[in-house]
Amino acid sequence: MYNELIFRLIIDLIVKYKKLVIVSHVNPDGDALGSSLALYFFAKKLGSNPVVIVPNDFPKFLSWMPCADDIIIFDKNQEKAVELMNEAELFCYLDFNTESRTGLMHNDLCHFNKTPKILIDHHIGPDCSKFEACLSETKVSSTSELVAELIKYQGFDNYLDSDTATNLLVGMITDTGSFSHSIFKNTFNICGELLSLTNLDYKAIHQNIYDTSSENRLRLLGFLINDRMTILNEYNTAFIYASLADLEKFDYQVGDTEGVVNYPLSISNINMSVLITERQGVIRLSFRSKGDFSVNDLANKYFNGGGHQNAAGGTLNCSLEEAIEKLLSVLPEYKELLNK
Ligand code: 5GP
Ligand code: MN
Repeated sequence: MYNELIFRLIIDLIVKYKKLVIVSHVNPDGDALGSSLALYFFAKKLGSNPVVIVPNDFPKFLSWMPCADDIIIFDKNQEKAVELMNEAELFCYLDFNTESRTGLMHNDLCHFNKTPKILIDHHIGPDCSKFEACLSETKVSSTSELVAELIKYQGFDNYLDSDTATNLLVGMITDTGSFSHSIFKNTFNICGELLSLTNLDYKAIHQNIYDTSSENRLRLLGFLINDRMTILNEYNTAFIYASLADLEKFDYQVGDTEGVVNYPLSISNINMSVLITERQGVIRLSFRSKGDFSVNDLANKYFNGGGHQNAAGGTLNCSLEEAIEKLLSVLPEYKELLNK
């Protein structure tokens, strides 16, 4: 399935250019962190001197991931991050394919056009021409699956350890909603290999991710579903909104709304679910769908975003009310596709 020349090229670049800066996307999720940290472990084993930089903080429920403490958070430690970027001999972009997905880091990354770059990603439509090596595959669960294949190519015997495998598994578990979507045969195969080779406790990993919420987080979920969810049966769509005041009421912590958007899809006729969240100065939208309906197309056309067929995101610079109006105004165009 894979072009092994790409694997070889990526590994040769990492071996050649020792100062490696691994970068992932804004609002880093389990796959962003899992793929970045696994590559970090792997690059060290290849004799490289890697660092991981992410644009902003990640959810607390991922802070236990092996070596998560080593991650440089750009908006908390800008001086250090810029210093490391200036020294970089090689960049590796993981889990995104347009530089604008790096938020605040984008302005700085633009200055390093001449530094070689690698892309490893599973989103639709990369521009591979900007990269020395481009491992882009959409028919995989996650970027972590791609990094797992890269390490496997070099040899799990010598290059896999339980910390690396844990990070890879977190990426695959979270990007597939605990293996409920975006899964391919190879996803199960590679996860099986990771587990059997390292003797990891899968249940413990799952519990670390999903059973470490605060009471506030669970109550926020209940509130949003009860008081902030609208079902639009005509469009087989549900949306949930969360204002800044709502979030504050439940002492919002980074990551607390992660996963909320999935719940409305459990209603049998709902084919698309949208979570509209008010953040400081911007509205974030999360889209999920079942079946053939492409939320990537919708997010791309109307919400300055994108992602995958069944999971995408976007942003608007407007009020919460205007964002809801915008969603309602575009739904008629998609009625037929949503009613399939
Ligand atoms: P989430 O809704 O969990 O934030 O994102 C779902 C998927 O869409 C993820 O794969 C994420 O990388 C992608 N995504 C989220 N927001 C954006 C965005 O603003 N632009 C693009 N291109 N992709 C996004
Ligand atoms: Mn991903």
